[in-house]
Amino acid sequence: MPSEVSFEGTEHQRVVIIGSGPAGYTAALYAARANLAPIVYEGLEPGGQLTTTTDVENYPGYVDGVLGPAMMEDFKAQAVRFGAETRYGSVTHVNLSERPFRIVIDEAKGVLADTLIIATGASARYLGLENEKRLLGRGVSACATCDGAFFRDVELAIVGGGDTAMEEALFLTRFASKIWLVHRRDELRASKIMQQRVKEHGKIEIIWNTIVTDVLGAEEVTGVRLRDVKSQAERDLSVRGFFVAIGHTPNTDLFTSWLDMDSQGYIQTLPGSTRTKIQGVFACGDAQDHVYRQAVTAAGTGCMAAIDAERFLASGPEDIS
Ligand code: NDP
Repeated sequence: MPSEVSFEGTEHQRVVIIGSGPAGYTAALYAARANLAPIVYEGLEPGGQLTTTTDVENYPGYVDGVLGPAMMEDFKAQAVRFGAETRYGSVTHVNLSERPFRIVIDEAKGVLADTLIIATGASARYLGLENEKRLLGRGVSACATCDGAFFRDVELAIVGGGDTAMEEALFLTRFASKIWLVHRRDELRASKIMQQRVKEHGKIEIIWNTIVTDVLGAEEVTGVRLRDVKSQAERDLSVRGFFVAIGHTPNTDLFTSWLDMDSQGYIQTLPGSTRTKIQGVFACGDAQDHVYRQAVTAAGTGCMAAIDAERFLASGPEDIS
């Protein structure tokens, strides 16, 4: 906590929400409708992971699908309509030792909050290749569930050797004509049953001991460049889509010293609720969910967090001023 940030006479909010994906905006909608005038700090990527997706076809209610960024604008507008305030800025420090909680925005501004809803999401890991970034949304994806249906009857490559890669490769078999699963070692990390399903699937072929060194294509993906880690030989593989499935990182570093997390950094909540081990702090969306990771489940837990916060405030904890 930077010592120069003052909390003297600063604003004191009932509900502060960190994060602006489906979880954060849904929490804002419900908290606003409960007259709690929530403040949403949108973070570095307003709208969250969905703003890196094109069409979303699996969010209930959008019969013809919707573009990810447009859907997040809808979420935001609906929350704002009922009185939520969204602000640019990232939370850079928190002190959760007592209520009201102390929150620092962009290393500079102090805000006090009676309750805090964490909706900071998770970020898909990428290989870090320049062309992977350039072609994101144009053949490069980190979400087979979101984007798989756009790749019918074409060949795809997917990188990763864990359960996510297996699950996504199997999902992609519904659409693609062939899936090349590229893994850097000669052994998969995934559970045995998932490995077996992948190995037995006629549409999936594993390329062992190989890394992806480049993604090819001017406007859209046309292939990937592979390097055999043993022979160092390079070759190009012609594919129309490239899926990255090398894990996700929850955006929870801010809370490491305050909340219980699992071994991967996902915030642990009490079963059936969004409550964390600190009273008045709630976590929702991908920051606490490594299993489902869908917009609709994130929105669902965002709703839960707002209801949990509302009930907490209504229960009138003695030390809330
Ligand atoms: P994991 O960390 O389990 O696996 C990541 C995979 O990506 C590993 O095979 C790793 O290779 C590979 N990888 C990492 N970095 C790179 C890189 N830079 N280049 C190439 N390959 C790379 O992540 P998952 O997302 O697969 O799974 C996370 C957790 O969620 C796991 O506990 C998993 O079991 C669980 N899960 C469970 C599911 C289920 O039960 N249905 C579904 C999905 C996930 P290497 O093996 O060489 O390290």
